[in-house]
Amino acid sequence: MTETATAPTAPLRARAEIDLGALRANVRTLRARARGAQLMAVVKSDAYGHGAVPCARAAVEAGAAWLGTATPEEALALREAGLDGRLMCWLWTPGGPWRAAIEAGIDVSLSGMWALQEVTAAAREAGLPARVQLKADTGLGRNGCQPGEDWAELVAAALRAEADGLLRITGLWSHFACADEPGHPSVAAQLTLFREMLAYAEQQGVRPEVRHIANSPATLTLPESHFDLVRTGIALYGISPSPEVGTPADFGLRPVMTLAANIALVKRVPGGHGVSYGHHYITPGATTLGLVPVGYADGIPRHASGTGPVLVDGKWRTVAGRVAMDQFVVDLGGDEPPVGTEAVLFGPGDRGEPTAEDWAQAAGTIAYEIVTRIGTRVPRVYVNEEQAG
Ligand SMILES: *Cc1c(COP(=O)(O)O)cnc(C)c1O
Repeated sequence: MTETATAPTAPLRARAEIDLGALRANVRTLRARARGAQLMAVVKSDAYGHGAVPCARAAVEAGAAWLGTATPEEALALREAGLDGRLMCWLWTPGGPWRAAIEAGIDVSLSGMWALQEVTAAAREAGLPARVQLKADTGLGRNGCQPGEDWAELVAAALRAEADGLLRITGLWSHFACADEPGHPSVAAQLTLFREMLAYAEQQGVRPEVRHIANSPATLTLPESHFDLVRTGIALYGISPSPEVGTPADFGLRPVMTLAANIALVKRVPGGHGVSYGHHYITPGATTLGLVPVGYADGIPRHASGTGPVLVDGKWRTVAGRVAMDQFVVDLGGDEPPVGTEAVLFGPGDRGEPTAEDWAQAAGTIAYEIVTRIGTRVPRVYVNEEQAG
């Protein structure tokens, strides 16, 4: 489990400040964008690194009717923490904790016959019907049931199990491949196929509570994809799915995580001095170096060696040389801020600090990966925990 701390002013080596007020505001903004649909707060992978339980609670307070996780273990942990509303998980492997999920009232996703067989066996043992959602592969080419014969077989078997009282088909759903590239032709093709697969299942007698396909980018850009429920992950955390979709501010979203560390050492060095492993940075002249005490063990991408931006004392500095396991160095250009000065790696951007998107660009990845990989050694410090008003 991730370490947590509650005193935002504690002199911690490093901290990820999590603004739950921003998260609640993002939930309300997303609900307003998807009026007529319910909202599922996707809190898999420890809420994309923000902390699953506090984020799930805040999202529910702000009106998220559903919570979603990838693994059943993540879903069961939310139940143990007292989150007792609608909850779904979708990444199952053979021998998974089906019975525990059934007994906890968790909706489980089925993409194939093996999973239907396992869940019905568990429902018999539990003496309780499972809540199952059938997942259609409408073109992502990942999890989900193929259209045609495979879908017909899964729907028919699920309806037989429903008639036997072993399960209730609560949802029909799918997932987009390219919703973060607005206008990509696969988006319209997936929507068309989703409608066909829904119509087939409904003709056969399926009466789902919810039909859903929209992730964050589709929630933000594609109203016709909203159906009964939208599943938002990255947008909850105030991050845009991709620069092509827009900036967070374009949608009224505010980044939730601020990552900062306290400078551990400031020192003068001569010109021509190699910096960090491999000496990939050589000081161009006499200068000062600042030691930032976080590294790739904390989730700072090593791919951002020589490129990652940091705000120190009002100025953007760049990672000088390699990011190491526990630390990296910035060239302070002769400035000598006191040790303990805050180095802000990323945040909402309104104090002039870089954003997670800036780090994504520096490391050649997506902002999802930047926040999700912040390590467990970095305490999460929750602010605005209480709902105002
Ligand atoms: C992660 C995930 C989401 C959320 O995606 P975002 O782009 O972060 O909104 C939605 N649905 C499924 C199936 C997912 O795995």
